[in-house]
Order: sequence, then C-alpha cells, then structure tokens
Amino acid sequence: MTRIAIVDNEKLKEMQQKLHIQSICPVNRTGRECIRIGEDGKLIIDELLCTGCGICPKAAPHAIKIINLPEELTTKPIHRYGENKFVLYSLPTPTFGRVTGILGVNGIGKSTAIKILASVLKPNLGDWTKHETDYDELISFFKGTEAQGFFENIKKGEIKVAYKPQQVELIPKTTKGKVVDLLKRVDEKNEFKKIADELELNEILNHEIAQISGGELQRVAIAATVLKQADLYIFDEPTSYLDIKQRINASRFIKSLINESNAVLVVEHDLVILDYIADLVNLMYGREDAYGIVSGVKPVRNGINVYLSGYIKEENVRFRDSTIKFAEKPPIKKKHTRESITSWKAVEKKLGNFKIKADEGSLHRNEIIGILGENGIGKTTFVKMLAGAIKQDKGEVSHKVKVSYKPQYLEASDELVVNVLNTAFRKYENQIINPLNIAPLSLKPLNELSGGELQRVAIANCLQQDADLYLLDEPSAYLDSEQRLLLSKAIRDFIEQKNASALIVDHDLLFIDYISDKLIVFEGRPAIEGKITGPFDMEDGMNKFLKELNITLRRDPETNRPRVNKLDSRLDREQKESGKYYYT
Ligand code: SF4
Repeated sequence: MTRIAIVDNEKLKEMQQKLHIQSICPVNRTGRECIRIGEDGKLIIDELLCTGCGICPKAAPHAIKIINLPEELTTKPIHRYGENKFVLYSLPTPTFGRVTGILGVNGIGKSTAIKILASVLKPNLGDWTKHETDYDELISFFKGTEAQGFFENIKKGEIKVAYKPQQVELIPKTTKGKVVDLLKRVDEKNEFKKIADELELNEILNHEIAQISGGELQRVAIAATVLKQADLYIFDEPTSYLDIKQRINASRFIKSLINESNAVLVVEHDLVILDYIADLVNLMYGREDAYGIVSGVKPVRNGINVYLSGYIKEENVRFRDSTIKFAEKPPIKKKHTRESITSWKAVEKKLGNFKIKADEGSLHRNEIIGILGENGIGKTTFVKMLAGAIKQDKGEVSHKVKVSYKPQYLEASDELVVNVLNTAFRKYENQIINPLNIAPLSLKPLNELSGGELQRVAIANCLQQDADLYLLDEPSAYLDSEQRLLLSKAIRDFIEQKNASALIVDHDLLFIDYISDKLIVFEGRPAIEGKITGPFDMEDGMNKFLKELNITLRRDPETNRPRVNKLDSRLDREQKESGKYYYT
C-alpha cells in the first residue's frame, strides 16, 4: 500500500456533503467506486483506487486525510482500528535487563503499541474484519525478529505483564475503596510496606481512592503495578501530575526495578526524565491520528538527540523540518535596564495553617521567569498577591499588575473553542492561533477536546487577555515533548512582542530551562510553609533548586540539552564539590 485514507465520519454529519465529496472524486467520475457511502451512511475511501489527487481532503480538511506513506515502509501493519482508521506499523521491543523508553508525539500509536505488548489489545495485522488473531499467526508474522521470541513466551505463559495505564484520573471510576485495600489486594510480592515507604504513600493509605489528588493517584498506580509479580513492567506516562522532586523519586524507583530477568517499558514526554530512566529508546513517528511507525532501538542519549534533530539517518526518515537546539550557555548575567512592572519586599501571608514569606524581588517587562517548587507550596497565593486579589499581612507589594492566569486544572464546558478564543482569532492569528495549532479545534466544544487540546486552548485563552503579567500554571501537562518545545517558543515570541512578562510554573526541567530568563525558587513544606526567593539568574536559581533535590545536570555536547548525572558518578561528585549543580 502506498497511501492511506483516514476519514472521521463524526465530522461529516450531512449526507449532502458526503454525496458532494463523492461526486468530485476524479476516480468516481470515471465510473469506479473510489469513494462510496456505506450501508450505515458512512463515507468510505478505497485506498487502492485512490490516486492521492488531494481534492477530497481540500473539500473536508477536518474530516479527511489522504497520506502518502514513506517509500521505505515495506512492512505490513500490526494493527488497524477499522476501515480508513488509524494504522500502526511495527512495535517497540522490550529488552530484558534494560529500561526501554518510547518517544513520539501524541496520537502516533504509543498507547496502542503498549496495549498490544501488554496483551490488553489483540492486534489484527491490518485486517479489521477479523475478531481475533491467535498467537501462532503473530509469531509467524514476527518471524526472525526479537518480537517473535517475545510472543512465543507470551503464548507459553512465560511472560507476565504488569501495566500502568496512561490516564490515572480514570482509576476512581473503576476502583473504589481505600488506598491501603487496593495495594494489599495486588501485593503479590509481599512488599507493600517497603513500596508505600519508597513512594511516600503512608500518609494517604487510609484515604479513599476517589478523594486523592492526581499526583497521589499516579504514585498509587505505580505502586500497584510494581507490587505485581511480572516479567515485563510497562509504565505509560508515569510522571504526569508529579512535581520535579516526585518525578526524580519515581524515576529512581522504576529504574531500581530492573534485573536480568525482567524488562521495563516507559512512555514519557519529559525528556530529562526519559533520559534519566531509560537505557534504550524507540522513536515513534508518522502522522498524528493517521499512522505510526516504530524506529529501531537506540541507546537513550543517541535516541533523544536523533529525536531533537528530526532525522533518523539509518532509516532515512525526516519527521520534522527543523532541528531543536539549546543555548550553549545560560543567559549572561546582566544588570536589568528593563522597566520594572512590580516589586515586593518582606512579604508575609497566613492562610489557615499555611504561611508564605517572600524576600525582596522584582519583575521586569519582557522577561520570562520560571518558577520551581513542589506542589502545594503557595505559588498561586503569591501571584494573587501580585495581582492585588489577596492582600499581604506584612511587607510591601509596589503596585498592582494586571494578571492573566491559566490555572493548573482545566475546566471544560460545552462552549465552542472559536467562541472562547474570539479575541485570539481576531487579533492574534499569527502569535497564538497558528503556533498553538488551534484552527483544527475551532468548531469543537471544550468538553470534546483531549487533555492536550484543552491545554492548548487554555494557554491561548490566557494569552489573549490584555495583561502585564501572564501566569501559566503547568502549561506542559498533557502535551508531548514536541508540543512543549514549540509552545515555549510561541510563549517567548508572544511575550516579547507584547512587551509583557510571564511567570511559568512547571515541573518539566527541560521546558523550564528552554523558556526561562530567570528563576524564582519556592522552598518549604507543602501545605505548611512556603518561602519565595529570587528571581535569580538561571545558574544561581538552578544551583539552589538542584542542590535541594541532590541532583546535578550536565549539558549534552551535541545538542546542549540538560542531562541528569548518575548519582555518585564522577561528574556528579565533582559538580557537587564545586557547587555547580546546574552545568559546567
Ligand atoms: Fe478521490 Fe483519492 Fe482524490 Fe480523494 S484524494 S478525490 S479519494 S482520488
């Protein structure tokens, strides 16, 4: 097959439109049935007859995609969800004794691949009319590859899989009761106490699953997975909802699971964490919501660098037009000549049992400040004080600034995207709508958007407001690593053009490193006290924050991206001794 057609019939509601599309297809005009309307009223495209002329996708760009597959693609599909639906070619390969990462944009089939390996989804080898593929068929399909051995062992019952799903927020819908009961029920290793300690779950053991936060659910889901006796552990996005400290902790924990007789697979969009957790990586590329291909396995450093370069040399595939590069050095320390928009001095505020303190600091125009700190440590309270929405008990805030705020948790309603983003569509097409790729979502109601789509709309909504200071709380959540890097560029350009300023709270270190001019660091104890220091230059702020976490970062010599040093490695010790936790 040289091309595939993807049709979203949900978006083709009118029969008249379908008949029109059918009538303009040049192949249909010659009397053959390239486009037909099925008995159920759905529009169907025959991929073998289609010449790829491009007429029908132009007539219905939101519903039809005609895609030429790369010439190099000679393998048959592993799975197809249905006629004119998403198709997956090839699978990542778990390696025993190693952690293998999977890296790729959203909608490229990562979760599908993982479900197949976890035996949650039986692949149909591209024939969606079949109900079941038996293991013998799969084994012969993969003959001569590592996957052959994997499925042979699955068939013999010699590989048991434990799988942490991506959407932990759905767990309370199917699992009721207390955290402790759930964990004890799945504890096949008799390690309940040890794992609850390591993942810091002791304080919530008696809480109802329905009551715990996203970050707590994530750690409970990781614990429930590792308590099972398995040969292959699969973690689909294990760090969403976790702050940086928890991410590092969860990564160390997952890494420590590995031994010669098991394998770990991890899908992760935080590139610093993926780099830290994985030994090997499979890249996935293709076209969002259309098809996905898995690259050959690579050592993790090389794999992430190839991903940033956008070109897989061995397979001669370019999957992105541009290369993503990082600055060689942190922004140079300079005296700010920029106009100050607000400043604060010796501020204190008490809210119930929680109190925050901020030393002296100021924000300037055209500046992006990254905020680093744990969850529940007063970041929102501080910004509300800058906006004048809450009055401090002690100290001074020089003058109120007009703040536009994107909250951490996003609310969806049935309002259409185009109405919510009315100003952005009118005034900021090039600055907001295009870089955030909002146009394809314009006619969707908010409550039909995926997590990543809703996030992009919420960011656009924040930026379209008239303000001096834009506060974006966790803008990278739900976005894939590629979208995170594109987003940071869009925010930087927007802030510069508006001559405004932005505060970015995020837990993805690479994203913060890429976007920030300066850093504010929050320290203290969640829900008890928060201490705000900074803004610091990048080097000073990172040094302060990383010292707290007891990790050091170096720069990759090829791409300049930050990498976490192995604990107690030569570099780790040297950097700690010289106080250079950020990078040398
Ligand atoms: Fe027909 Fe294919 Fe052209 Fe669409 S792209 S009009 S299906 S030939």
